Amino acid sequence: MTTPPDIWLSTPTPPRRQGAPGLFLDRDGVLVKEVNYLKNKEDVALETGAAEIVAWGRAKGFGLVCVTNQSGIARGLISWAEFEAVEMEIARQLREQEGTLDLTLACPFHPDFTDGYGPEQDRWRKPGPAMIEHGAALMGLDLAKSWLVGDKAADIEAAKRAGLKGAVIVATGYGAEEREAAMAQESKGFTVLSAATLDEARALLEMAF
Ligand SMILES: [Mg+2]
Repeated sequence: MTTPPDIWLSTPTPPRRQGAPGLFLDRDGVLVKEVNYLKNKEDVALETGAAEIVAWGRAKGFGLVCVTNQSGIARGLISWAEFEAVEMEIARQLREQEGTLDLTLACPFHPDFTDGYGPEQDRWRKPGPAMIEHGAALMGLDLAKSWLVGDKAADIEAAKRAGLKGAVIVATGYGAEEREAAMAQESKGFTVLSAATLDEARALLEMAF
């Protein structure tokens, strides 16, 4: 799968972790506290437990991939330069707490704001599965053993469509209001767990992986 030019990757060559499970993490409302259209690096604050879940995944040997919709870019609210400054700040704050991600993918598309938005763009924007599939392909991750943590039903649906083993809806960010729709994604072969906090999500994943 080739990456469309508008999909942002933190690195084109993430580490290979052939056959390892992936831990896919949403960004806004999960890794960092939800800020409507986060554009200023001064507003970056890690969610409680974010660095810990990343460090835990690292210790377990999982591939650590952030997948984030950034429609603020299509809407003209956030520039790529502002987005990248925010990403640098997230990485810096994670590093301070011994957490590093292997890869981040960001999708700028929005059906109402992206010229020529069609099925291809729709596969990349969550709940489309393409960011997860592409991250896994770049790193050699085993999707069927992988999990995702998100705060929206669209995150959970993307995980399901990518063929992950399961996902955790966490009540940070939009998670409390999205919980019911997220839980409804559970089906045969796809587990959805609910956690109040990222620390609780980590404890559930410790048992589930
Ligand atoms: Mg989110």
